Amino acid sequence: MSETTTGTAKRLPIIAIDGPAGAGKSTMAAHLARRFGFLNLETGAMYRALALKAIENDLDFGDEPALMELAAYTRITLQPQFEGNRVLLDGVDVSRRVRDEDVTAAASRVSVHPQLRTWMVDQQRALGSKGGVVMEGRDIGTAVFPDAEVKIFLDAAPEVRGNRRYHQTSPTKAVTEESIIADLKERDSRDRNRAESPLKAAEDAVILDSTAMTLNEVLTAAEEVVRAHVPEPLLHK
Ligand code: C5P
Repeated sequence: MSETTTGTAKRLPIIAIDGPAGAGKSTMAAHLARRFGFLNLETGAMYRALALKAIENDLDFGDEPALMELAAYTRITLQPQFEGNRVLLDGVDVSRRVRDEDVTAAASRVSVHPQLRTWMVDQQRALGSKGGVVMEGRDIGTAVFPDAEVKIFLDAAPEVRGNRRYHQTSPTKAVTEESIIADLKERDSRDRNRAESPLKAAEDAVILDSTAMTLNEVLTAAEEVVRAHVPEPLLHK
């Protein structure tokens, strides 16, 4: 695999995938990583891990100084797997726990803080510095790697995202399709309206709206975007 030159540093290509919650970014990222032999990094899992630690320490999610103090002695590790990432918080595997409802809600709240975002972005840049990664989140193409070779903004109508997620979750009385849609809309609104690196498509991103597409169609379209932006010799397969 040869290398791409950015400034003076050489690195392999970066594929940035951004978009709202439940759009299918993780599925797309895992697929592209397998297809092209890249590492897959889910940045949302890092926000989730810190949110979990804030819960465990009974912190107020609005208290940025306290969260930053907590972050100072927190180690978050992402281990790319065939499907998604294994997440270690201070060496402990929290991959399942960070997907729970309370952590999901807390992650959405802690991620609005500018200093906390800077702390995360610095680590994410270090993780992706050599390239050869598919990085997925909300601000990868706009803030973490604005020079990424491939930027995909994956969108879908909230009702469709909610419906898909509803059919993926094990049914409980408390969770209805309507409650999932309401929750997605609330998280979207917080992501889109925060002052620091809000969720939006980078100007040079390719926007894929999966509202009326099948999963296969979306994955094929994403592969085509990658091939259009990265020379074949830089792709493994
Ligand atoms: O992608 P995921 O749902 O796991 O992300 C959890 C939360 O972390 C999101 O609701 C979003 O508020 C935040 N996030 C972010 N920037 C990223 C990734 C996630 O603000 N790059």
